[in-house]
Amino acid sequence: MEWKWGSTDAPRAARAGKVKVVSINDGAKPSIECEGSDGARYYATLESCTCPDFNINLKKANPTACKHMVRLAMSLGVLNQDGLTERDKFLKDYQDLESRLAKCAWYYYVLRTPLISDAEYDGLKKQYMIWRTKL
Ligand SMILES: [Zn+2]
Repeated sequence: MEWKWGSTDAPRAARAGKVKVVSINDGAKPSIECEGSDGARYYATLESCTCPDFNINLKKANPTACKHMVRLAMSLGVLNQDGLTERDKFLKDYQDLESRLAKCAWYYYVLRTPLISDAEYDGLKKQYMIWRTKL
């Protein structure tokens, strides 16, 4: 099953960062062994996990990866520490830049109050035009 790693939300990513890892196998079939707060051991791969959370999630229409799977994905570099894929991180940065430019332009043209210097604005706009080609 192919997971939508980009849909990992920030709270789950934060919980994944705090998982107690017993061991990680980063070979051809990556897996992770984790210890729960009650001492129970959970075994996860990028596709499934033995924990109750995952097995409850699995019954939903849009199942999500549990924190153990997310932790494994982070360890393998599939997700960054915020739970985002490289592509989602890029899209988020792009949207942040777009919003910032729009805000600067609005302040400049409507309120006649520059938020940043012309040189800084030109730099951001240049970055924006480069990123646009990568969408
Ligand atoms: Zn799990």
